[in-house]
Amino acid sequence: MDLLSVQERLFQLPSLGRGYEDVPFIAGDSVKLRPIVTGHQRDLAKAGSDPYRVYFTMLNTFVVEPKMAWDELLMGDVNAIMFAVRLMTYGKDYPIEYTCEECGAKQKVDVDLTVVPKKTADDVDDFQTEGLELMLNGCGSKITMHLGRLKDEKVVSGQMRTMEKADRVKQVDVDRALLSLAQLIDSIDGNTKMVLPEKFEFVLNLDGYDMNQVNDFIMASRIGLMPVPGIICKRCSWENEEVLQFNAAFFRAPRRVTA
Ligand SMILES: [Zn+2]
Repeated sequence: MDLLSVQERLFQLPSLGRGYEDVPFIAGDSVKLRPIVTGHQRDLAKAGSDPYRVYFTMLNTFVVEPKMAWDELLMGDVNAIMFAVRLMTYGKDYPIEYTCEECGAKQKVDVDLTVVPKKTADDVDDFQTEGLELMLNGCGSKITMHLGRLKDEKVVSGQMRTMEKADRVKQVDVDRALLSLAQLIDSIDGNTKMVLPEKFEFVLNLDGYDMNQVNDFIMASRIGLMPVPGIICKRCSWENEEVLQFNAAFFRAPRRVTA
């Protein structure tokens, strides 16, 4: 496990380049990045609010080399690239808002991006991107999964639009997260022919224990940025762990401290 860092605009992917066929990464495992400039805001405004299009546009904008089929990138690499660009452009402070797990207080804090743990393919036992098998203790079903790639988000965006048209979206964030998870499932009890709505239904019917098991399994199998530890609640002193997410401040420069 190492920490998020960028050197000479080169960023070593958490995957270490494994899980890709013949992509000419720099030195086998790195990409060359460029920092955020004001004009990029316009590209992003054009991408709108669909996460897939935002990711796609950002990769196209910020990854100078190699140019590749962005849809093939593992999401663990995609997210790490985004925060590497933020770190490279605006330095280590990244403002987040979170809710304390212990006392429920809403808090604002600057996270130090240089202490975000980065889990690489070498940190995962027997790293693989496909054919991850899990037996669910509650429902007794055996599922196989894969690590998410950007193309999975494309499928999820399409399904979200279909559900929105049919007025079947209940809560955008939650539904999207559950759909994304369902999209990672390739088979359930040997059935490889299930379509996304059926897999989504399966996920909706998992009990809380099975859901925890799935989430723990994904967490153990995946690569990329891990939750940031050691975020102390100002009210109750509880030590929180937070998953880094995009927020409105992502593209905004921190205020320069002047004497
Ligand atoms: Zn607290």
